Amino acid sequence: MRVITLSKLTLLLLLIFSIVACTTEAANTINDTVAVEDPTDETEDDNEGLTPKTTYDITSIIGKLTAEENVSYEIDGEYVRIFSTGIPNHKSPYFIDTDWENEKYEAYSSSTFRLNPNRIDTQDYEFRIPLHPTVASNKTTTPMGPMGVAINGVPLFNQYAAGGVDLTNEIFSFDQYSGHPTLRGMYHYHIEPIYLTEQNGADALLGVLLDGFPVYGPLENGETLSSDDLDDYHGHFSATKEFPEGIYHYHISADAPYINGDGFYGVAGTVSN
Ligand SMILES: [Zn+2]
Ligand SMILES: [Zn+2]
Repeated sequence: MRVITLSKLTLLLLLIFSIVACTTEAANTINDTVAVEDPTDETEDDNEGLTPKTTYDITSIIGKLTAEENVSYEIDGEYVRIFSTGIPNHKSPYFIDTDWENEKYEAYSSSTFRLNPNRIDTQDYEFRIPLHPTVASNKTTTPMGPMGVAINGVPLFNQYAAGGVDLTNEIFSFDQYSGHPTLRGMYHYHIEPIYLTEQNGADALLGVLLDGFPVYGPLENGETLSSDDLDDYHGHFSATKEFPEGIYHYHISADAPYINGDGFYGVAGTVSN
């Protein structure tokens, strides 16, 4: 161990400045040898005594995931089947010229917004999600179309528009609640569902991906997270309100890739419509 040969003074400096990047060769050696944890990372501190597992249990949040009247569920062995019409519980300009126009149409104007030609229509989603989400040894990419479901039954889509291109152009057709419909009338969110964070809080449970791992808003322990705080799949392990013992979970961030990064962290279930 090289540390043993270091002077007491240097060790003292290490204790005081262990995370400050020093310029002397000796200090660099120390940092390379012992700097294993970033004490500025609060999540790390909050996780003390909590151990990540390979399998979790999400039975306790099924009620929260299916509380809206357009959402229901059935337990089916190791899976929960979540059924949804996909009709958002909030207003949208995309309800114009639909059966819901009288109750749910709300205009939206912003300098960049462009109403796309699609209109919201009812769907017949079934999300078949593992009750015991399991970390995948081989991660798989998220599909185009629904990759999960929000707590209001609206599907969550990944960070790509049709054809696998990024959302640069599609973003202009997001309404005031950051959703928009596909050609088949499937209303969906690629980014933070503003209505849900306004109603439930930016730190709330907002949905679940097909692998069963929960999706939270951008706020955690009073801090707004960005993609830099998260792993390649856009999540991390920590305690949450619903899982005080800790669980792997995704966070929605304001920066791309928004909800999911390189794919499912766990073994994914399926979706049909
Ligand atoms: Zn879209
Ligand atoms: Zn978190």
